[in-house]
Amino acid sequence: MTIESETTAAALSATQLSPNRLETLSNRVAADSAEQFTVRAPATDGEIGDVPACTERDVERAVERARDAQSNWAETPVDERATILERFGDLVLKHRAELLDLLQLETGKSRRHAVEEVLDVPLTCSYYADSGPTAVTDERRRGAIPPATTASVTKNPVGVVGVISPWNYPLTLSLTDVVPALLAGNTVVLKPDEKTPFIALALVELLERAGLPDGVLEIVTGAGSVAGPTLIDHVDYVSFTGSTETGRIVAARAGRNLIDCSLELGGKNPLVVLDDADVEEAARGAVQACFTNAGQLCLAAERIYVDKSVYDAFVDAFVGETRRLSLGTGFDFEDDVGSLIDGDHLEQVETHVEDAVDSGASLLTGGRHRPDVGPFCYEPTILTGVDPDSLVAREETFGPVVSVQPVPDAETAIEAANDSPYGLNASVWTGSRDRGLEVAREIDCGTVCVNDAYVSGWAAIDAPMGGVGDSGLGRRHGPEGIDRYLETRTIATSRVGPLDAPPGVPTSWYARGMVTLTRLQRRLPTAASVARWLR
Ligand code: NAD
Repeated sequence: MTIESETTAAALSATQLSPNRLETLSNRVAADSAEQFTVRAPATDGEIGDVPACTERDVERAVERARDAQSNWAETPVDERATILERFGDLVLKHRAELLDLLQLETGKSRRHAVEEVLDVPLTCSYYADSGPTAVTDERRRGAIPPATTASVTKNPVGVVGVISPWNYPLTLSLTDVVPALLAGNTVVLKPDEKTPFIALALVELLERAGLPDGVLEIVTGAGSVAGPTLIDHVDYVSFTGSTETGRIVAARAGRNLIDCSLELGGKNPLVVLDDADVEEAARGAVQACFTNAGQLCLAAERIYVDKSVYDAFVDAFVGETRRLSLGTGFDFEDDVGSLIDGDHLEQVETHVEDAVDSGASLLTGGRHRPDVGPFCYEPTILTGVDPDSLVAREETFGPVVSVQPVPDAETAIEAANDSPYGLNASVWTGSRDRGLEVAREIDCGTVCVNDAYVSGWAAIDAPMGGVGDSGLGRRHGPEGIDRYLETRTIATSRVGPLDAPPGVPTSWYARGMVTLTRLQRRLPTAASVARWLR
């Protein structure tokens, strides 16, 4: 592996990383393929290093190794599995400096946004280490005719889980799905995005150091179109995070194989400012909602609807706050907003803004590519007067671009917020918490944050997270995040032999007896009614 670009050599010198270290990480991929692909640093467009391009056979072998390791891992006591994950969380914190360097190098994001990822992992580990053992424990349920019959539910790992992750939050969005899968006793094959394999390799290394046995977490690197379909064809469950377009391909393939999947997809997230909102606070929140990770965040707001009575004040404050953001690619905590991931993505962002302006929108701030800062840096951009049929109004931009629009009242804001095929995250700003909760219930999104951009929703790890409509299927986080990785089975027993007419009893008598029994049974308490009484 060679560092060919002087600019990347310069970037590496600003970090704890060396070409040898990157080569050690690359060598962790078990691949027969001699083919490699090159990973580039968005901040400089220089080469970081090469990583094996796994073939279909490499992926099959990785799944075979994971399958071989699965029964031993499932038999490892759950508390021991939890301890390994807790230890891993500690190691992530301990090695945060290197992880932050890798994250910045591969994604071009600012360090202040990279740190959000590093802090998220230990919290996820602790949450599932604590709640996971209960989630995987067998449960007794009410039998058909208690106490003559019983029912219990056993929970087994689904087997080998395939996790396919994106480049925008490569650490968080791999681990948040890997950790509960492992805790549940599954083994995992992780396929990170081809733009960000090194951070995933560093995580696998730390998990092994934390005590994860061989084969329990395998990693395959390479093109999504090669490794992805093969992975889906051989695993027992797929956890996918990425674009809606690829999500449909993944779902179709999983459906063909009759395996279950969770799909965390794109969004066109609305932010609503009501007439009683503190506009200064809402403006600060909107900056975080729109420009975190240069807008390359699935939960980022891309449409803002503001009550007309506070529109001018909000826009003044929002534009002012946005203009104060610094754009940069430094490996310290100085810059607010980093780079876009690559040239293709920059082109998509520029196309959306040009299309909006060509169809009549006005730029309130931003709207310029900034090669002087970095080859793919783009200014935080606020548009108004956007044509409702323009690209920026309808399609996910996934960049530092937002449109802002006045609305006459809260009802219109809700209607506008819901006018999208997506439904991932929304943010509502108001002076009244009760009103915020009321409006939140009316918005068709998997998560709605009141008086916050997205952090309070994401960081509530005990609560489910996911999208509706084109934003996906299934939920991560919370009990739902581990339940998806468990195969539940019911085992029922009878203490009275077959539940059928006893020998010699006429069927008409038996039927009459069953009617009486059914009447009694309908009065039996269920687990839900007992819980209501106890409340
Ligand atoms: P993408 O769909 O291009 O790639 C995501 C992953 O899928 C990558 O690992 C890629 O290699 C793999 N892949 C590509 N083709 C595949 C195929 N045919 N079969 C299987 N896997 C394949 O998405 P992206 O551009 O990397 O990520 C950005 C998108 O992800 C945005 O739309 C964003 O909103 C979305 N996203 C959603 C969430 C969420 O939690 N809902 C989180 C982050 C990103």
